[in-house]
Amino acid sequence: MNDDNELLSRRDRTYRENESGDYFNRSQYLAVAVSFCVIHILFEFMYYYLGCIPMAIINAPVIFLYVGCTALVLKSKTQITMWVMLFEVYFHVIFATIFMGLHCGYQLWLFGTFACIFLPLFQEGLSKSMKFQIAFFAFVILATFQVLTFMGTNGWFPTKYSPPYNISRIIYHVNATTSFCSISIYTFVYNYSMSKKNREIKRAADHDYLTGIFNRHRIQIILEAEAKREHMLGKEDLSVAILDIDHFKQVNDTYGHAAGDAILKGIAEVFAGHSSYGLLYGRWGGEEFLLIAPEDCAYDDFAGMLEGIRREIEEKEFSFAGQLIHVTVSIGAAAYKDGMSVEKLVSTADDRLYTAKESGRNRVIT
Ligand code: GH3
Ligand code: MG
Ligand code: MG
Repeated sequence: MNDDNELLSRRDRTYRENESGDYFNRSQYLAVAVSFCVIHILFEFMYYYLGCIPMAIINAPVIFLYVGCTALVLKSKTQITMWVMLFEVYFHVIFATIFMGLHCGYQLWLFGTFACIFLPLFQEGLSKSMKFQIAFFAFVILATFQVLTFMGTNGWFPTKYSPPYNISRIIYHVNATTSFCSISIYTFVYNYSMSKKNREIKRAADHDYLTGIFNRHRIQIILEAEAKREHMLGKEDLSVAILDIDHFKQVNDTYGHAAGDAILKGIAEVFAGHSSYGLLYGRWGGEEFLLIAPEDCAYDDFAGMLEGIRREIEEKEFSFAGQLIHVTVSIGAAAYKDGMSVEKLVSTADDRLYTAKESGRNRVIT
């Protein structure tokens, strides 16, 4: 495989990992790996104190395993770390239950493991193979719990490492509490990251990536809702305008595309200055914006506001990479008449924008 192919396959793998149902971020993984390392150091003392030599022998290398996991997380290898930790907890539970008995409650940790495995199964965008792995491991955990309980209640485990009754009671309650806590923490982190993702998706669906203002889809929905409301209330106070930057192609050609982007953002900031008056606006297309007049704003007042915006942009010095750039805009506006379709309203404003361009640009046509 040549270098390019290798790079591509690595990149492809990175994207696939993003869709693997991973909902912890790196610092959360780090917290888990470090706290598990500390827990296993404490376990080591406890197993020696209780004289449970097999568990002390099994547990000692696990401490180093978690040191390794911490290093892996620091290298952003979170996927492999997640599986290593899950398998470690799973096998630790089995051995601890076999050597120390059901009454120490290690098997309860399988509930926590099950929750953390099972929750991401219903996440969108998960690959089929990942879903299968999750479902399979969830089933294995359930079966393991049943088998351990069956074997333990039939007295099939060696009892010579079982701690005294009072100590095993304490261990049982600690295991039960930590297992419940792990479920709560997993559920909390999962829900938190899902709602954060939903917010991000919703924001991306409604907003223009460059300027951060409403995109065409969203501003169109708003306009339709406003027209419907006007129609229902029998009012005719809805006005819209389309604003287009003059000779923007030339601006890009002269100062560069990045400078053009900065100007688009700067123009969105000019609109933001009028949002407190109730102006609604969105990016309609490349260098075109749709403006919706504030509620109950008379058409003449809206025309005044548009003239103010035009002048503000004309006088503004857009600065980019040490250069000061001036631009002008042309605006076409239209007022809603009852029964008018939204398409007609916008196309009337668009026709007037065309007239503004034809008659010399840098003007508002109402
Ligand atoms: P006019 O005064 O007639 O509107 O001329 P114009 O040059 O503004 O119009 P034209 O339609 O010829 O060109 C629009 C330009 O807008 C071309 C395109 O590269 C630029 N543009 C569209 N979207 C973006 C963007 O997101 N960023 C940048 N930098 N430029 C954009
Ligand atoms: Mg245009
Ligand atoms: Mg233009």
